[in-house]
Amino acid sequence: INKFKKIVIKIGSSSIVDEKTKKIKNSWLRSICDDIQSIHSNKEIIIVCSGAIALGTKFINNKKPIRRLEDKQAAAAIGQIELAKGWQNTLKKNKIQTAQILLTLDDSEVRRRYLNVRKTINALHKKGIIPIINENDSVATEEIRFGDNDRLAARVAQMIDADLLILLSDVDGLYSKNPDNYKNAVKIKKVFKVDRSHKAKFHFFEVDRDHKAKKDHLWFYVERDHKADIKIFWVDTSHKADLEVFEVDRVHKAKGSF
Ligand code: GLU
Repeated sequence: INKFKKIVIKIGSSSIVDEKTKKIKNSWLRSICDDIQSIHSNKEIIIVCSGAIALGTKFINNKKPIRRLEDKQAAAAIGQIELAKGWQNTLKKNKIQTAQILLTLDDSEVRRRYLNVRKTINALHKKGIIPIINENDSVATEEIRFGDNDRLAARVAQMIDADLLILLSDVDGLYSKNPDNYKNAVKIKKVFKVDRSHKAKFHFFEVDRDHKAKKDHLWFYVERDHKADIKIFWVDTSHKADLEVFEVDRVHKAKGSF
């Protein structure tokens, strides 16, 4: 990890929010914040964190998954406060100041806004502050939604010329199909080139629309097609949750994969 200077860490809802209690997994968060502190001094770190909807859902409807967009937006409005507080309080214990940035797809596509976001992130990094980013779910309509934070994280990585994107999720890589549903799903170790036809081939979002964490990770490759120098590593956090695991285990295993 030493050779990377600008790192985007994407954290999926299932990693940070307890499925049963619908609360932040505090010990997990503490452990990841300790890891972040250990690499923070000579790096620029950005966290893209999901979980707002998962955290807010209990206040909208505790019994079943929310379907309507406006209810999800309301849940996000509630949950985002809890999420931001969680990061702020925990990283503060590691003497790291945080900031919150909420983005929509527009913000990364309209040049003036894009440049503004970049400047803001740079200004924060100059002060050693870590931006915590999420989609601005409460204002985003279908047309201006990233849709999932995988895409948002990839876009943020491009915007700030990151050299590493780490994905903490409950999948450990790119699969030909959803590995939970298909025994014959194959992990794709090398992706040399992605075009629309590959995307269609490996697309499993359609199969599993509601299972957020299993979304199609090919977005990364589609998004980064002109930016071949962003390395991407997946870390499956369902068993152990820290960047240490990533360092010892994954980097070596994944080396050369991309
Ligand atoms: N922005 C959404 C949230 O915070 C998550 C979107 C996703 O990662 O699928 O709940």
